[in-house]
Amino acid sequence: TYVIAMPCVDLKDLACVEECPVDCIYEGGRSLYIHPDECIDCGACEPVCPVEAIFYEDDLPDQWKDYQGANAGFFDDL
Ligand code: SF4
Repeated sequence: TYVIAMPCVDLKDLACVEECPVDCIYEGGRSLYIHPDECIDCGACEPVCPVEAIFYEDDLPDQWKDYQGANAGFFDDL
């Protein structure tokens, strides 16, 4: 799955939402989140993010590894 990391926090540009073919990017209070079970790993969202907040899970920078759990956890709380 793809994951949205810290650069999205308090920005929420929404360009990725337009690109996602399966509409699996959701808006939370301070960030956007990708639903891990709905993402089809197409990669369409990654290049359109103006702040490079989106990474394939295996490519997350070390300092943002926690965001994988944060994205999944957002949906657990709904
Ligand atoms: Fe949507 Fe594709 Fe990005 Fe997954 S990788 S969130 S399916 S645009």
